Amino acid sequence: MVKFAEVNDLLVWQAEAVAMFSQDFVYAKFSEFYNSSSAEIPLPSSVSQREFAFLLFKGRVMMRHKGFADMNRFRSFLIDPKNLPSDVYHSCAYYENPEAEMDKKGWLGADLVFDIDADHIPTSCNKIHDEWTCGKCGFSGKGITPESCPICEGQKFDAKTWPCDLCLGSAKEETVKLVDMLEKDFGFSRKELHVFFSGHRGYHVHVENEAVRTLDAVARKEIVDYVSGIGLTVLTEKAKGKHKGKRASSVFGLHDFGWNKRLKLGMQKFILNATKEDLRSAGVRSYAAVLQNKEAILKRCLEEGRWGSVKGVSVETWAKIAEYVKNLESAKIDTVVTTDIHRLIRMAGTLHGKTGLKKIEFPVARLADFDPFKEAVAFKDGVVKVCVSDVPEFRLGGNVYGPYRRQVVELPTAAAVLLICKGRAEVVK
Ligand SMILES: [Zn+2]
Ligand SMILES: [Zn+2]
Repeated sequence: MVKFAEVNDLLVWQAEAVAMFSQDFVYAKFSEFYNSSSAEIPLPSSVSQREFAFLLFKGRVMMRHKGFADMNRFRSFLIDPKNLPSDVYHSCAYYENPEAEMDKKGWLGADLVFDIDADHIPTSCNKIHDEWTCGKCGFSGKGITPESCPICEGQKFDAKTWPCDLCLGSAKEETVKLVDMLEKDFGFSRKELHVFFSGHRGYHVHVENEAVRTLDAVARKEIVDYVSGIGLTVLTEKAKGKHKGKRASSVFGLHDFGWNKRLKLGMQKFILNATKEDLRSAGVRSYAAVLQNKEAILKRCLEEGRWGSVKGVSVETWAKIAEYVKNLESAKIDTVVTTDIHRLIRMAGTLHGKTGLKKIEFPVARLADFDPFKEAVAFKDGVVKVCVSDVPEFRLGGNVYGPYRRQVVELPTAAAVLLICKGRAEVVK
């Protein structure tokens, strides 16, 4: 008779063998992709001044400090089987010697980059499809991964996320707000703005312009603060903290440019549609006064700037509404990415190791109708039988799949690769 422990070992061994086989399958698909499509990978500007990095399938090693004089050399490196990467990055920075050690590279400047990732946006669905487990004490929870563990304060987590349609929709809304600020408030032209789907759960925006190239980390932090609405004051300096009893018009005022205009338009929209619940979540105590006087508020206060002209709508009310609207109108970016002047960023046209989807650029004008689940699909042929552990309903290449839970299904290659890369399925031999 076989003992339980032996059966258990056998099962573990079989599970590992299947996982290995799935990895080989993903490896083969990535290899096919780069062999057939490497010529279509677009070239980043000033290729010879960029540092490149590759996370290799073999040994999960990060190979950094690579430089290429031209795209042909890059491509022949990429299709060499011993270099096959799960992820490819290049520096936002330009260097004299991209292959040198960090302090000897000779930093010449860097593009201004923004990363908008669903990991930083509090969507209502992340509690359904995202989970995290503390690497130190094993405590786990649902939703956005915290900065530190509430039990042991550990900062390493094992996160299980999903590139969900709704989350990517939210990331797109943040991107729209960011691009609007970059165009209208900073004055960048559409030619200077490059918008990409990241290949996973968000969007990247790169600004390539002489004026931003040599900005240091401190200057970039100023830009981060601006788009995030950090440090924005809505009350005049002398009115802060001692506005009680004063007329709203004398302490609250908004002009017609930048954040002032954004707040004004945002407040207009907010008040027009506000319900009692909306006003209460904004912390407005006199919500009845706001609800009863919507029209007068919109006309007299917001249009004519007579902020104190509606009874019951005080400076405090305006400050609360403005603060709430500021949070709605600010762009939720990953602040660390923008301030890092040596940042490596995923290369456009390459595959994301967590999804098998491509990072791709698309014109700013197409932001509204761009569909990542159609346009970033890399694998167009074939079907594969996989055993799925657990996955919510998802959309890919114009079709809807799932939800699946502990079942064997036949899926198109792109969907199978996605599930395997996300650790939700294994190939059935
Ligand atoms: Zn912990
Ligand atoms: Zn979601």
